[in-house]
Amino acid sequence: MCLKKLLELFQKPGSPPVVPQPVPIPLAIPHPEEPMNPDATIQSVSVDMVRQSWYLQWQVPESSYPFFDAIKIKMDPTIAFPAWTCGNEITCQPAFCNPGVLAHEMAHVIWFTMTDNQKADFQTAYNAILATDPMMTLLDSQNSYMNTAIVEAHAEVYRYLGERMPDSLKKYYPKLF
Ligand SMILES: [Zn+2]
Repeated sequence: MCLKKLLELFQKPGSPPVVPQPVPIPLAIPHPEEPMNPDATIQSVSVDMVRQSWYLQWQVPESSYPFFDAIKIKMDPTIAFPAWTCGNEITCQPAFCNPGVLAHEMAHVIWFTMTDNQKADFQTAYNAILATDPMMTLLDSQNSYMNTAIVEAHAEVYRYLGERMPDSLKKYYPKLF
């Protein structure tokens, strides 16, 4: 064996260039649930301020403000649920009158404007992406209320994911994107 070959045997291969690897960002629900406020009263909560907070946090298009400004929001501490929606009117307990609850109820307002075909198409699109989109899978693993009815799934996807929901679902949220 010649010296050259011998040296080659001991020569370390060149170190590969160091390429910084992107640090994976752990998935997190973009709009986590706010705690209820047991001290809130009809006098202490401003529904208009809650509405404005929802507009900003959920990036509601400004062109939709007139539509959502016209939705009446009533507070009633005696209702059986944190909040509900009937037509163009939302009723909520003061303790639960916060932007996330409002986002959920406003999604119901939009749902009621959709045709039966649009609702059926949403169900199909939702079922198709539930197990494949990481954000949807994460939400599904943490949220059992989505399974109660497709109308609730529609509202919960918007309420918790907002603009981070899969693009394929956004067309079922007219005025909200
Ligand atoms: Zn609901």
